[in-house]
Amino acid sequence: MFDTLSDKLDAALKNVKGEGRINELNIAETMREVRRALLDADVNYQVAKDFTNKVKETVTDEKVLQAVNPGQQFVKAIHDELVYLLGDVHVDLNKAKKPPTVILVAGLQGAGKTTFVGKLALFLKAKGRSPLVAAADVYRPAAVDQLETLAAQVKVPVFSIRDAAGVPEKDAVRVAREAVAEAKRTGRDTVLIDTAGRLHVDEAMMEEVVAIKRETDPDEILFVVDAMTGQDAVNTAKAFNDQLDVDGVVLTKLDGDTRGGAALSIRSVVEKPIKFASMGEKLDALTEFYPDRMAQRILG
Ligand code: GDP
Repeated sequence: MFDTLSDKLDAALKNVKGEGRINELNIAETMREVRRALLDADVNYQVAKDFTNKVKETVTDEKVLQAVNPGQQFVKAIHDELVYLLGDVHVDLNKAKKPPTVILVAGLQGAGKTTFVGKLALFLKAKGRSPLVAAADVYRPAAVDQLETLAAQVKVPVFSIRDAAGVPEKDAVRVAREAVAEAKRTGRDTVLIDTAGRLHVDEAMMEEVVAIKRETDPDEILFVVDAMTGQDAVNTAKAFNDQLDVDGVVLTKLDGDTRGGAALSIRSVVEKPIKFASMGEKLDALTEFYPDRMAQRILG
């Protein structure tokens, strides 16, 4: 994960790491390399520019210049700025005052929504919660089957509506509404609503998910995005957030993301926290997102 960025930052910091003194010359040189490393990682241009400006400001402070080990202070400045860029602190999922907590999961087709719903159900179960998953991705009949299979694997009930011939109900809003009612009736404390995605942001998809939001008044809206799509991920996140005012972002396929551009830009562009990172197809390949841990991983 983010191997290229880690290597390039490491190379950039070699200039100052062992140095007894840092000066304007090696600061400028290092910052140029750091900025190039970020841009090569597909980090948003403005984000990379702000990042290097802030680090530069920190390290040109008199105290740092006079410090016993200014090289180390330089590395610390980069680390701190990475943590800040990734969101500073971990943000937990919202919880309803009175159960059930409703979690709406949205994103483009193929982003990893359905897989994430299965993973989140397992994650919540391990914390002692009793989730119900709702199959409101009604356009792809296979999506309902897929969710039913995942739910069976993690042993959580799934709510879906099918007609006598087994064809899924087409009204996603109805499925979501009745799933919440079912959770109340059966005492499940959390409802995870899997919604339909399209290949690109389109009006009909947004209208449907906005209607589900209106109808179910979710406590948490999570936007799921494939990190491997880089700046497209950031743009899609912005489009969804404009319509839905999401509470958090889930980055998927970080296991295949060698660059890191989405992870590093999304927080400052969209101004919503990354709450989970998905790193594989297996159901336990989900971790809560901690900015400091991620920064540590990037700096190696
Ligand atoms: P949806 O259309 O958004 O519901 O996406 P799916 O959950 O069906 O996932 C699309 C594909 O991505 C499937 O083949 C998943 O196995 C795969 N996938 C989901 N999450 C991850 C992940 O974190 N890492 C990898 N490598 N593959 C993933």
